[in-house]
Amino acid sequence: MDYDWSAADLAFRDEVRAFLDDKLTPDLRRAGHLATSVYPDHHASMKWQHILHERGWAAPAWPVEYGGCDWSLTQHYIFGRELMQAGAPALSPMGIRMVAPAIVAFGTAEQKAYYLPRILTGEVFFCQGYSEPESGSDLASLTMAAVEDGEDFVCTGSKIWTTHATEANWIFCLVRTSRTGKKQEGITFLLIEMTSPGIEVRPLVMTSGEQVQNQVFFDNVRVPKTNVLGRIDDGWTVAKYLLVHERGGALSPMLQVMAQEVATAAAEQAGPDGNPLIDDAIFAAKLAEARIRTEVLEILEYRTLSMMAQGKNPGPASSMLKILATELSQRITELALEAAGPRGRVYQPHATMPGGPIAEFQPPADGYRSGQEWQAVAPLRYFNDRAGSIYAGSNEIQRNILAKAALGL
Ligand SMILES: Cc1cc2nc3c(=O)[nH]c(=O)nc-3n(C[C@H](O)[C@H](O)[C@H](O)COP(=O)(O)OP(=O)(O)OC[C@H]3O[C@@H](n4cnc5c(N)ncnc54)[C@H](O)[C@@H]3O)c2cc1C
Repeated sequence: MDYDWSAADLAFRDEVRAFLDDKLTPDLRRAGHLATSVYPDHHASMKWQHILHERGWAAPAWPVEYGGCDWSLTQHYIFGRELMQAGAPALSPMGIRMVAPAIVAFGTAEQKAYYLPRILTGEVFFCQGYSEPESGSDLASLTMAAVEDGEDFVCTGSKIWTTHATEANWIFCLVRTSRTGKKQEGITFLLIEMTSPGIEVRPLVMTSGEQVQNQVFFDNVRVPKTNVLGRIDDGWTVAKYLLVHERGGALSPMLQVMAQEVATAAAEQAGPDGNPLIDDAIFAAKLAEARIRTEVLEILEYRTLSMMAQGKNPGPASSMLKILATELSQRITELALEAAGPRGRVYQPHATMPGGPIAEFQPPADGYRSGQEWQAVAPLRYFNDRAGSIYAGSNEIQRNILAKAALGL
């Protein structure tokens, strides 16, 4: 589609492109290209964050006084789009995109001065401790206990599905500080250092065979009360604010890149009749449908952007965009798996047999990368992408929100 950008927007786009040409090295592009989920290789992601930080672009959406950029919404969109199209590795969202805006909105002056600059440099790396084994969609039912003891809280309980808990040195947690009143009341938002005595992280191996998520156990962990973000017993207010930031952002550029990668792969891979798969009428129709839907999503993202630029509330748009983007992403990773053909086999480094013990990875004799790299990545993306309709608020929950807010049901 054509974009009706202003001359200033086009100049900005060219500035971003020149920066990317200069700084996005082949190894960083490769890390972005071979990302098996929304999380690319951690070290590449941090390296890229440092480069962006040097340019002042690691957290453009933050207020300028804390290191953000004085950009229009359109410039933010262009920036995100150019990064994705160039194949830059994504930055971990838990610090920059999620807890930092909450610290800006609810933090004390000391908290802002401590955390924000360190999140930018990567010295402080957060993971998100919301979900518990018995509390996911119904998050307010969470039970991890934080009991006041002098100047501290003493925390006991468990968080689950915690992405990057093995890399993080801080975790932001929702904890139960009171059991009276409505379940949304009595929740407190705590910032906890991962090196605190009494914390244990146990990795979880996902269907893809990868280990990015974890379960975190807290056994009488002392946390100073100065680490409360917002007010004691009012963490639900902070939690809701943060979730809006978790679900925001334009995803159509990423989907366009993914669809183009599938098209390129399908041109190299033989289809059922021996000709390139891309020439197979059924496959071509499925890919075309996914690309058309991606364009529709992009138009909806523009509409939302335009409403926000005019200061209007886009309403439940983030729920609608989340459903459309994750379902499309799942569709495109299915097509990628089809394009990978017989080489796109499941690579499960840790699994030995279904339900069996987890063994150390022994590389297969032919190296798992027989075939091409993207063929090894396709099944991992396929499996990891199934989680897209679950995390950040499942798609059923988003549909419930739409039913209420958009349809008035
Ligand atoms: C890859 C991945 C990464 C994650 N990372 C993190 C993280 O870093 N930190 C963190 O805190 N959490 C994380 N999560 C957890 C995620 O937020 C939860 O999985 C999610 O909120 C759903 O909760 P649940 O898994 O307990 O499922 P449940 O809430 O038990 O839901 C099970 C099923 O029932 C459906 N359902 C539930 N309630 C309703 C309803 N009212 N109406 C209709 N359908 C309903 C759901 O849609 C789902 O299909 C991650 C999850 C995944 C898969």
